[in-house]
Amino acid sequence: MTERTAERVLIVGGGPVGSVLALALRQAGVPVLLIDQLAAPERDCRAASCHPPTIAILASLGLLDAGLDQGLVSPVFHYLDRVTGKLIGRFALPEMQAPPEHAFVLQWEQYKIADTIAERLAGDDGVEIRRSTTLTEIEQSADGVIATVQRADGSEERIAAAYLVGCDGGRSTVRKLSQIDFEGFTWPERFLKIDTRHDFTALGPQIDNRNYFSDPDQWMNLFKARGEDGSGMWRSVSPTLPEQSEDELLSPEAIEARLQKFCPKPGAYGVVTVALYNVHQRIAVTFNQGRVLLAGDAAHVNNPVGGMGMNGGIHDAVNLAAKLASILNEGAEAQPLLDRYTRQRRKAQIDGVQAQSIANKQMLGEKDPAVRTAKLAEIARAAETPELHDAFIRRACMIDSYAAAEATL
Ligand SMILES: Cc1cc2nc3c(=O)[nH]c(=O)nc-3n(C[C@H](O)[C@H](O)[C@H](O)COP(=O)(O)OP(=O)(O)OC[C@H]3O[C@@H](n4cnc5c(N)ncnc54)[C@H](O)[C@@H]3O)c2cc1C
Repeated sequence: MTERTAERVLIVGGGPVGSVLALALRQAGVPVLLIDQLAAPERDCRAASCHPPTIAILASLGLLDAGLDQGLVSPVFHYLDRVTGKLIGRFALPEMQAPPEHAFVLQWEQYKIADTIAERLAGDDGVEIRRSTTLTEIEQSADGVIATVQRADGSEERIAAAYLVGCDGGRSTVRKLSQIDFEGFTWPERFLKIDTRHDFTALGPQIDNRNYFSDPDQWMNLFKARGEDGSGMWRSVSPTLPEQSEDELLSPEAIEARLQKFCPKPGAYGVVTVALYNVHQRIAVTFNQGRVLLAGDAAHVNNPVGGMGMNGGIHDAVNLAAKLASILNEGAEAQPLLDRYTRQRRKAQIDGVQAQSIANKQMLGEKDPAVRTAKLAEIARAAETPELHDAFIRRACMIDSYAAAEATL
């Protein structure tokens, strides 16, 4: 076992959040070691929607050109009643009275963000990226942290760093080793994601790149991403019944029947990938313990209706990078800044992401007919009333919650 010492930040996890953190730290001149247990970046098609505050961050990191090149610009999103097939509300960011600087949602798949950052970091002497390297233990002292990692061949190494940031996803080893409680709950139903190349705009002009279908029995989110070859990939997310088995849900017949029920068409759908997710609403009680920090899904998880999990994680990453740079480059007192990181980013979760994603899910799946009618009427009114339209977008697109969190002392 060898021991390496360095005054650098060790990032555990090279998903979108760990990657953005690495780039932001490097742009601030902080040395970085990023490890990931996987041999190669995951071709994971979970997140694609980047909301306006995140687009501004991507622009400030010099990533927006790549995002526009590889992604899809979506200035509009729709709410529909799946039972009647009618459009309930249309929300258009460029039509806001005070639109954000980037008045659109960017559909840029999370693996493309991570890949682009890995390319930007290649050749930078201040960053080392090690794959097939799994964090297994953490020891802290007053002036540093020592992580034990395991390589693919089974050998172990002890790595010293000034700070360690767990960007290692919802099942975070960093959070568990640090015994930080992950408060919240798990929904009884799982969500099924289906990716298909079928072009749903054939349904009519009520379909845009981003669509929310309300249905008391089987609501659906339907989004278009650009896909691997740029030809377009439609992603649907819908709920399953708790008692349905994985085999039952994932059989080709069941997948086909689900899509046909949603949008009947002659001939079978060309299904590219399917995935079943357990769905949680949880936040770590603190995002910091000594020299260990949490960011992204390691710190918080939420249901994906509204596309906010990765956005919130990217907001964590740039917030934390600025604070670590002040501590490491300018000698700023650490604990007040790290406490503020927890305060700001927990607020963004509690008041913003968690509250909004729960409301989004409940709105789409409302079963009580009277409550459902009232909720749909509220959306229709919001779409038609300029102040309500703008306020709706500011909530749905994380504009208000991001600003409120950043303003928190
Ligand atoms: C169906 C679906 C759709 C979604 N759509 C959106 C969306 O449109 N917009 C949005 O904002 N969010 C969305 N999300 C949420 C989003 O996918 C997550 O919030 C995001 O992936 C979190 O990124 P992360 O980097 O924190 O974690 P992850 O992407 O989970 O990455 C964690 C990394 O850590 C590595 N790792 C784990 N353990 C270790 C270890 N012990 N040692 C070393 N490495 C380790 C893993 O290999 C992985 O590379 C969606 C989620 C789902 C399920």
